[in-house]
Amino acid sequence: MNAHKAGVQPSPCAGSRRRIAGILRGQATSDGDGVRLTRIIGGPQLDMLDPFLLLDAFESDRPDDYIGGFPTHPHRGFETVTYLLAGRMRHADSAGNSGVIEPGGIQWMRAGSGILHSEMPEQQDGLLYGFQLWVNLPAADKMSAPGYQELPAAAIPREQHDGLDTRVITGTTRLGTTGPVTGVPTDPLYLDVRLTKDALFTQPVPDSHNALVYVIAGELEGPSAASRDPQSIPAKHLAILSGEGVIELRASEDSRMLVIAGRRLNEPVARGGPFVMNTREEVLQAFHDYSSGTLVISPVGSH
Ligand code: MN
Repeated sequence: MNAHKAGVQPSPCAGSRRRIAGILRGQATSDGDGVRLTRIIGGPQLDMLDPFLLLDAFESDRPDDYIGGFPTHPHRGFETVTYLLAGRMRHADSAGNSGVIEPGGIQWMRAGSGILHSEMPEQQDGLLYGFQLWVNLPAADKMSAPGYQELPAAAIPREQHDGLDTRVITGTTRLGTTGPVTGVPTDPLYLDVRLTKDALFTQPVPDSHNALVYVIAGELEGPSAASRDPQSIPAKHLAILSGEGVIELRASEDSRMLVIAGRRLNEPVARGGPFVMNTREEVLQAFHDYSSGTLVISPVGSH
């Protein structure tokens, strides 16, 4: 505890701000049954940013780009987070859960020891726009029971002040608004922030965490790791924030961004398509369990 807890936070000096260490746009690819998407994390430009294994953006108003969806497929060893800005996505899984993610809604799913699920666009036309993030689980939780937290837009708290309009999915803002997704081992932060021109966004993040910003629209500006001059992050680009301290970014114009952070696991990562474990042997075991029908625990009451 410190004596200033209830008072004004000391203003951060330049050295304690997180700096922009890299900017990338992601790579066009397709996944599932021909869904066109942009792979921002998890591709050749950025293999991972511990604990984040993958970040995909899908945005199209052409049904041919998305209508095939992601038919039934397995996962083990991590969490998938689906956040929709527009359109509707129906999901169903081997744990007996199903539902429709609507605009502004989030699904935070723990695959844990194993899940089979499908993620299919509900709509026949119109804009489908959203993100899927894969968050790694620590070794101790990779074989934990699967489950999910799903919340509609109305259940996500919104904080509005000083030109900022923030939706808090998980984590706690500087002013104390806490998101409804809880119990995630990497103690993540996931914010959807709209900023009016010149608004200043400030967010403390523990030094144990990696942090990133994805600019959905507009342009943000922050301190650069490479230069004394500030650096701009254009729309549709990801900025990797390095170092320790607070995130501090200013809107160069009316903007919208995702701000995501999570605790580094610093554990070995062995990837095999839909399975992410700590060793190659564990990945091979997952493929074996999948092919032999023992990847998933049967839902309660079904035999
Ligand atoms: Mn999936």
